[in-house]
Amino acid sequence: MAAAEAAWAPERRGEEDAAVQGARDAGAARPAVCERFDDLGADGAPARLGIMGGTFDPIHIGHLACAEQAREAFGLDAVVFVPAGSPVYKKHQRVTGARQRLEMCRMAVESNPSFDVSALEIERGGDTYTVDTLRELRTHYPDNVELFFITGADAVANIVRWRESHAMAGLARFIAVTRPGYALTEERKRALAEQSDFAIDCLEVTALAISSSDLRARVAQGRSIRYLTMGRVNDYIVAQGLYREEA
Ligand code: NAP
Repeated sequence: MAAAEAAWAPERRGEEDAAVQGARDAGAARPAVCERFDDLGADGAPARLGIMGGTFDPIHIGHLACAEQAREAFGLDAVVFVPAGSPVYKKHQRVTGARQRLEMCRMAVESNPSFDVSALEIERGGDTYTVDTLRELRTHYPDNVELFFITGADAVANIVRWRESHAMAGLARFIAVTRPGYALTEERKRALAEQSDFAIDCLEVTALAISSSDLRARVAQGRSIRYLTMGRVNDYIVAQGLYREEA
């Protein structure tokens, strides 16, 4: 775990995020995050929480393998999948209803005691911005819980254009999952480092040659996606008639 050991010292976070501090000072009620890991870090011991951010339309075994491998490589105590409520960059494309994507995520992770799902972004409503999610999580968890935001490398490549990216850099470490043809080059990583104070680690997960768009296309063509996602998710897609029409 060489990359993971390149410790991201808390002092790299710079100043405490004003919005998080404000919420804490105001004694804001701790928003519930998920069922299994709401109390992570409550005993004061250092802990590491992975946050799998994605649209998950639908969730597939590549996502699960990636979360599991990130858990192992970075010594994460738990990984929470956070399906995006209303992804900002997908306003002009068809996205399956948030509740159905949430349901599929729940089915996919239920057999892994280190995984859970959070409806945080769906319940917040409005456009989904990662900075809001990280602030909610930072407000919820004590400082001894380190946050790792895990998502695809091609999404991370544009991270400096995300809303309040400067603030985001101080709220979490980032794990960019690479897939064939979508590695984050050293040049791109250097450019990101120059533009901001992001701590970004890359993780190569070969299973991510599978993609949600490929699964949607297969269903639309009447082809099988069995074994590309969990059995219950496959059955749910069939029962709900999802992805039958190509977007
Ligand atoms: P995307 O553009 O649909 O995905 C880009 C690539 O990353 C795809 O190959 C995708 O594969 C893969 N990917 C997505 N989530 C992944 C995960 N958790 N682990 C591994 N690979 C993953 O990306 P998206 O799903 O819309 O967004 C990814 C995350 O970034 C979400 O949490 C989103 O809210 C956040 N985001 C935030 C902002 C912002 O705050 N302004 C802007 C953009 C994205 P699949 O298609 O197979 O998933």
